[in-house]
Amino acid sequence: MAQFRATPPNLFSLPRRIARLGELAYNLWWTWNPEAERLFKLIDTDLWEAVGHNPISFLNKLERSQINSVTYDRYYLELYDRVFRAFDKYMQADFTWFKDAHADLNEKTLAYFSMEFGLHECLPIYAGGLGVLAGDHLKEASDLGLPIVGVGLLYINGYFSQRLTEDGWQEMQTFELDLKNVPISEVLDEEKNPLLISVVLPGRRLYARVWEARVGRVPLYLLDSNVEQNEFKDRSLTSRLYNSDPDVRISQYLLQGVGGIRALRAMGHTPNAWHLNEGHSAFLGLELVRELVKQGLPFEEARLQLRDHAVFTTHTPVPAGNDEFPLWQIDKFFAAWWTELGLTREQFIALAANTQEWGETFSMPILAMRFAENVNGVSELHGQVSRKMWHKSLWADKPVEEVPITHVTNGIHTGTWLARRMRGLFDRYLGPEWIEHADDPLMWEYVESIPDRDLWVVRRHLKRKMAYYIRERARKRWIKGGFHPIQVIAEGALLDPYALTIGFARRFAPYKRADLILSDLDRLLKLLNVPNQPLQIIFAGKSHPDHEQGKRLIQEVYRTVKLAENGGRLVFLENYDMNIARYLVQGVDVWMNTPRRPNEASGTSGMKAALNGVLNFSILDGWWREGFNGKNGWAIGNEQEFASTNEQDKYDANSLYDILEKELIPLYYKQRSSDGLPGEWIARVKECIRTLGPAFSTRRMVKEYAERMYVPALQDDEEEGVEE
Ligand SMILES: *Cc1c(COP(=O)(O)O)cnc(C)c1O
Repeated sequence: MAQFRATPPNLFSLPRRIARLGELAYNLWWTWNPEAERLFKLIDTDLWEAVGHNPISFLNKLERSQINSVTYDRYYLELYDRVFRAFDKYMQADFTWFKDAHADLNEKTLAYFSMEFGLHECLPIYAGGLGVLAGDHLKEASDLGLPIVGVGLLYINGYFSQRLTEDGWQEMQTFELDLKNVPISEVLDEEKNPLLISVVLPGRRLYARVWEARVGRVPLYLLDSNVEQNEFKDRSLTSRLYNSDPDVRISQYLLQGVGGIRALRAMGHTPNAWHLNEGHSAFLGLELVRELVKQGLPFEEARLQLRDHAVFTTHTPVPAGNDEFPLWQIDKFFAAWWTELGLTREQFIALAANTQEWGETFSMPILAMRFAENVNGVSELHGQVSRKMWHKSLWADKPVEEVPITHVTNGIHTGTWLARRMRGLFDRYLGPEWIEHADDPLMWEYVESIPDRDLWVVRRHLKRKMAYYIRERARKRWIKGGFHPIQVIAEGALLDPYALTIGFARRFAPYKRADLILSDLDRLLKLLNVPNQPLQIIFAGKSHPDHEQGKRLIQEVYRTVKLAENGGRLVFLENYDMNIARYLVQGVDVWMNTPRRPNEASGTSGMKAALNGVLNFSILDGWWREGFNGKNGWAIGNEQEFASTNEQDKYDANSLYDILEKELIPLYYKQRSSDGLPGEWIARVKECIRTLGPAFSTRRMVKEYAERMYVPALQDDEEEGVEE
């Protein structure tokens, strides 16, 4: 069947010599290739910042004279040719890891479903870690040559932009994407009309159009209900991510799961395997089984057939983080489904029934586990916790250790998160092709050959760059107005580009304990203001807009940040996003994470920091429990279990201050007399990059998914165990 490929409109009418910039703008490949980014940035650095690194708005806003002038610039044209040679080679994909390792599966397709994708700040359809992981997963799948397509929703209002009032109260600022200025293009049908798909909602039909984002070689399809065929209120159904209204949520899940399958079919894709990134997408199983039942298979046979081809990844050990719906809501949305599936209502409900103190619910992760044979958590500890957590609902007849939930520890996409200057250093000392081997620990041994001075020059450059960026941001906010002077300081106006700097940026959920380091303020203030040994801490993060506790926590931190006694050495950056994340994980000296064990499923921001030589200083939870080796950072607390959270918090806080006072701060400021460099610190930085770079790369992670999950799931049913 024909495959409809969306074609980006040629809006830019660029000079012939550089016409392909338009094509590059529509492929997110540039976001992980810093030389490609420079093709935009070099034309007008200020405009590039002003448009938030969005190449479509950038090209639309450039003056004709600016565009013309680069066509005479020899340096620019050389760079242009070099980038497009690399881009063409990449897109041709003559040699890829997957083609080489699994030639027989190259014609297959795997569909990857996720409610959010964090690919770049210019496509703001993510809230946090889950989305960024999905974005990194697609980028790496493209690099490795996996035959994969992504499916999600397009949120024109994204998640939200964060503003803080003078008193530290989080306010939502709404924006709306101008779809002509976003690197996505609309998928058209054979008559060149927008492709429309639909699903049934209570009392009406919901339509959606389909947009395509290009992630290197991988297409990502995004469904959007903003079409005139819909009733007015349904046009905004997909406008916002993680809406708290349960009817909106279930409708979004239905559109993404069921509508996502229909969109793939309409475009001629015939996936052989399915990856559900979190339980949100579990309704896709209903649609796939319905297709098989329609062909005459009994429900149970159809379900078992699907199971062999489905992979489910669970991401949270917090029961409240797992979506479930009351049964009346399931009746409202799915009454028509049970007969189509050949089930009674009771059988349908039993697929995902979960017994809670307040009654029976319909659980999305349980539904996902009915449809997927391969289930995994995202770190070793999270695997254990998940086996315990789902034991009673699904495998009560087995001992906990035999619950079939495994783990694949998360990773991060090396090209996306590594600073350009750091990459230059690696190119020189690890070899020009090093990034192709980012999961190979032997290759990373060469980190030891980087001269201390070179490494330290880059580390200092990155911190200065971050400090200047933060100060410019504070200045711009100040000029714009509506900002109290104390907020200018809280936003980082007094940052010292040379002081030891700790970063703490993540979602504000109480278990992440952003306030742990503030719990003994006197003890902390003494550390901030030691002459010649200053310490500064940068906080950032959003709370879910309907989560009062999270917002109160931000307020509490903000009030401490505003205290004059800290001398502007505590900072809270508004509106954490991928752009701020890049500055922080590349620029600070230390990355701190203080979750209450074992609530952090994995965490990934610390991996981004480690890659850039930023030392982790964290609780032994999630990934850090696997990453820490005694020499590549610091562990706060130990693996001890406590009877009360109060006791645990006290113990951990004390350990945190102890390490800061006795080890961390002295080590940073201890210079060798011979060369004036902090030699022992630099040794730790090298140990950190060398050991954590390979183990927590998506290259290791996606290969692991491929070998352990995708390859078996992609195989045809009859191939298994049958000899010819
Ligand atoms: C990496 C990242 C996250 C996830 O990091 P955690 O360690 O899980 O908190 C969240 N938000 C942004 C913007 C990120 O880049």
